[in-house]
Amino acid sequence: PLPVLAVVGRPNVGKSTLVNRILGRREAVVEDVPGVTRDRVFYEAEWSGTDFWLVDTGGWEDRVQGIAYRVAEQAELAVELADVVLFVVDANVGITATDEQLLKVLRRAKRPIILCANKVDDERGELEAAALWNLGLGEPHPVSALHGRGSGDLLDAVLAVM
Ligand code: GDP
Ligand code: MG
Repeated sequence: PLPVLAVVGRPNVGKSTLVNRILGRREAVVEDVPGVTRDRVFYEAEWSGTDFWLVDTGGWEDRVQGIAYRVAEQAELAVELADVVLFVVDANVGITATDEQLLKVLRRAKRPIILCANKVDDERGELEAAALWNLGLGEPHPVSALHGRGSGDLLDAVLAVM
């Protein structure tokens, strides 16, 4: 079976945008408003010759559990099937209480966690991203899922622990 990479994060941090970026095509539904239903949340992806399943956990939560966002449950479901967790935060917003709550669940699962500091669209955002070293998850990977900035380095980091 292929390894599973679960993309986890609170609504609107850019999970689906990142999934599309990794796929190189638009399949995951991107919305300005959190809580969008879609048909499929598992996508077959490839990077540097490695195939893996990519899971857009936001979509799964919408479909299985309805509109209400249940942070801990989403994270628990995701890490249960994940080999590697890609934890996405919005570098411009910083760490919120919801992020902290999610992270607590993720840490318990003892899967490797790669930290993606998303929405770093240009150099100015790098400083905010660097502040995320505080989380104790190792290097925060600054990425612009929207423009593609940093996504290759992020995937290299994922593959290194996969
Ligand atoms: P999700 O709820 O975590 O799946 O987030 P989405 O992928 O649906 O994105 C939510 C919003 O953030 C959309 O308006 C995206 O266009 C925007 N967004 C996602 N990634 C980036 C990024 O790297 N930079 C900027 N500026 N906006 C982004
Ligand atoms: Mg989404």
